[in-house]
Amino acid sequence: MADAVVIGAGPNGLTAANLLADAGWKVLVLEEQPEPGGAVRSDCGVDPDFVSDVFSSFYPLAAASPVLRALRLEEDGLRWSHAPSVLAHPLPDGRCAVLERDVAATAAGLERFGAGDGEAWRELHGLWERFGSELLGCLFTPFPPVRPGLRLLGKARGAGALRLARTMLLPARRLGEEYFEGEGGRLLLAGNALHADLSPESAIGGGFGWLMSMLAQSHGFPVPVGGAGSLTAALVRRLERHGGQVRCGERVTEVIVRNGRALGVRTADGNAVRARRAVLADVSAPTLFTELVAAEHLPAQLLRDVHRGFQWDFSTFKVDWALSGPVPWTAEPAAGAGTVHLADGVDDLTRFAAQLATRHVPDRPFLLVGQMTTADPTRSPQGTESAWAYTHVPQRIEHDAGADGILGSWNEREQEAMADRIEAQVERFAPGFRSRIRNRRVLSPVTLQRMDANLHGGAINGGTTALHQQLVLRPTPGTGRPETPVNGLYLASASAHPGGGVHGIPGANAARAALRSPATRAVLTTARRTLAG
Ligand SMILES: Cc1cc2nc3c(=O)[nH]c(=O)nc-3n(C[C@H](O)[C@H](O)[C@H](O)COP(=O)(O)OP(=O)(O)OC[C@H]3O[C@@H](n4cnc5c(N)ncnc54)[C@H](O)[C@@H]3O)c2cc1C
Repeated sequence: MADAVVIGAGPNGLTAANLLADAGWKVLVLEEQPEPGGAVRSDCGVDPDFVSDVFSSFYPLAAASPVLRALRLEEDGLRWSHAPSVLAHPLPDGRCAVLERDVAATAAGLERFGAGDGEAWRELHGLWERFGSELLGCLFTPFPPVRPGLRLLGKARGAGALRLARTMLLPARRLGEEYFEGEGGRLLLAGNALHADLSPESAIGGGFGWLMSMLAQSHGFPVPVGGAGSLTAALVRRLERHGGQVRCGERVTEVIVRNGRALGVRTADGNAVRARRAVLADVSAPTLFTELVAAEHLPAQLLRDVHRGFQWDFSTFKVDWALSGPVPWTAEPAAGAGTVHLADGVDDLTRFAAQLATRHVPDRPFLLVGQMTTADPTRSPQGTESAWAYTHVPQRIEHDAGADGILGSWNEREQEAMADRIEAQVERFAPGFRSRIRNRRVLSPVTLQRMDANLHGGAINGGTTALHQQLVLRPTPGTGRPETPVNGLYLASASAHPGGGVHGIPGANAARAALRSPATRAVLTTARRTLAG
């Protein structure tokens, strides 16, 4: 019998499994899909000569994660690669904001958008150099982050701490306007805020945009050599070296609970799989609490909180391409960037966010574009480009702001129309782009969820990043910790603090919670039950 069963082989499930195996536990990971990785997978499904990342691609959060660094995945074959520049945001008039790996180069480019903007970027970077590691420490440790929190307060002191807190809470538009005269710096902050479901006007969007921008500045946006799947392969290889096992094609349908304790799980074929010590769930919070655990084992308030209060992040629509040549950007500097953001300006980002909020499919979608061969030349033959773009659409669609009548059935007509709309947006910034498409693959919200049940309706972050679902409010009001009201059951996915992205922290937090002494575990489970009830 396994000591622990982990449900789901996403990056969080695999991180949790590795930590438990390191502690000498016998670990079994059960994965619904035919292969491990969750939203960290790559394939040759677009074109046999091209490697395409099916979901996520760029891993600054992995590079900054103390947990993933400590796993030393390089010893299991992982190698990183970088594009010449990290991120570009071209504008229709041919200007281009570029986040380079060298802070002086980024600053020099932004100075061309507004006098003093280079210095403003250096100032924001200075803030990161002073407080960045403590802030990441607060995010990357289980809640409450006592030690990094005290270190941060010690460093920032009094009014400094209040000013830092204000900066973190600002919307991206406001932070950009306080620091920058021109559009370039403002766009880098706001575009990065939209990596999560935060509009330019959302509270903490400025803090999030700044954090992502500074991770980009200090770590770049690295990609695994050979495809996103190489990161998963290293996690699995390491786990197996330590005695752990991953079984694919095994959908868990129930967490077996007796007398308030998780005893194991049941799979779709009806088999019970026992776990001597713990069950760790790398599934979404709604799936865990409304599908896998019977309601009788959970406090009624928790169920009400999940049903009424849990908010998914936006839905996602993605297109992968095999291109016969590089993207012919009008703004040349975009050619060297791994990630390219496409929107006409900060106001255009607000327009896009307003369309999402009012349940419209955007007519001129904000695009995140990945130029994967630029970031890692192994992805496709020389002179070609393995590329993708995704945008967001509402979880519940009522109108199409465009002319195609896309209303969220995502039948073939709607998928093709939305993919065409995305290509038209790229074409505005890169005339001739469409003539370079050899093959394309369309990943609608329905397809994304079919390939990974955690991507509910195409949500990519396990629930909104908005302030009202963060820290002790994630996934529902409680302790902000991985314990659940069921003894021996832990939430290990991006639905748990600190949320989405490939950093492995929710998985690590869950594993560490399971490894605590029985007395501490009992206190924390009771606290969770009390707060939920
Ligand atoms: C299109 C897209 C682009 C993204 N881009 C980036 C990026 O560039 N950088 C970044 O850091 N993050 C990115 N993300 C977000 C990131 O991939 C996720 O936040 C991360 O994968 C979450 O990890 P997880 O382990 O919590 O869940 P997942 O990766 O979703 O893994 C969950 C696993 O559990 C399995 N599972 C679910 N239910 C069951 C069940 N009942 N039984 C058995 N198995 C089950 C699923 O099949 C899946 O394998 C992106 C996500 C998407 C979808």
